[in-house]
Amino acid sequence: MKILLVDDTQTMRMLMTAILEEFGHNVICCENGEQAVDKYLREHPDLILMDVVMPVMDGYRAATKIRAIDNDWVPIIFLSTRAEPGDVAAGIEAGGDDYLTKPVNETILKAKLVAMQRIATMRHKLIALSRDLEEANSVLQRLAEVDGLTGLANRRLLDRHLGLEIARCTRTLSPLSVIMADLDHFKAYNDHYGHIAGDNCLKKVADALKNTISRGNDLACRYGGEEFCIVLPDTDRNGVIHVAEQLRTRVEKLNIPHIRNGGTVSLSLGTSTTIPQKNCSAEQLLEGADRALYEAKQTGRNRVVAFDGPCNP
Ligand code: GH3
Ligand code: MG
Ligand code: MG
Repeated sequence: MKILLVDDTQTMRMLMTAILEEFGHNVICCENGEQAVDKYLREHPDLILMDVVMPVMDGYRAATKIRAIDNDWVPIIFLSTRAEPGDVAAGIEAGGDDYLTKPVNETILKAKLVAMQRIATMRHKLIALSRDLEEANSVLQRLAEVDGLTGLANRRLLDRHLGLEIARCTRTLSPLSVIMADLDHFKAYNDHYGHIAGDNCLKKVADALKNTISRGNDLACRYGGEEFCIVLPDTDRNGVIHVAEQLRTRVEKLNIPHIRNGGTVSLSLGTSTTIPQKNCSAEQLLEGADRALYEAKQTGRNRVVAFDGPCNP
């Protein structure tokens, strides 16, 4: 163990260091409580052995300070010539874990160190385990919000993101736009080229969408089978029409053959914009874009239609 030894008497420090090093431990020394707090922060010891009565700052105050710094627990054993029950109780109360009286009996000290070593080992394992768990959790969290086929955000992330952006744009009185996009005659694509080709086509289209949107808060999501939703905060009606048109041409330029759709794969898009107010929900915004998308399909596909409704600015 890396042991922080705190004692104002040099002979005591030398004596204890010799014993601890003989037991195979690594010892760092200091002379008072104030230095102990400082060394604790810099050295991250596995155990603190601390005298009680010292100048500048005594052992109890130092223990109280160390316990107040963070939740990362390190065992503290007090070493003192005072051995009244009240002294022991005060030591534990201050944050100590054990109390030994000086002169220290070597056999008892050795036994206590073995016990503390066990705790230190367990603590290291627990720290490593909780770090692994934290990492696994954040990986899971990311996976839970990503669509497996395309790598785009999924519905769960869309709902969360849209909720946050509605709240933010309501506060800042900013326009918020969404695009609903749907591949044209995609059932026919699958029927003609097969589902594997269909999946590959979806991936290429998703990449094109992802690479076209550029701002930090923009989000492209796979809404359903061959439907995509793009959230564009701080974007007005003209802005969203511009982006939607870029997306449409980008997909067109992929030049993916689709003989049952006039030669190549294409995308129809509907947009909806609002300066959200308290009564304007995510559903209303999506519904507006959906209605515009329907119109884009009805009027010939491979086009952008902007929704003009009561929710729009
Ligand atoms: P429209 O132009 O009106 O949108 O016609 P459509 O054929 O694209 O629309 P419809 O909703 O009738 O069909 C959607 C098709 O998308 C159904 C299915 O074959 C295909 N599809 C949905 N999800 C996937 C997927 O994950 N992989 C593949 N390969 N195809 C999918
Ligand atoms: Mg479709
Ligand atoms: Mg569809």
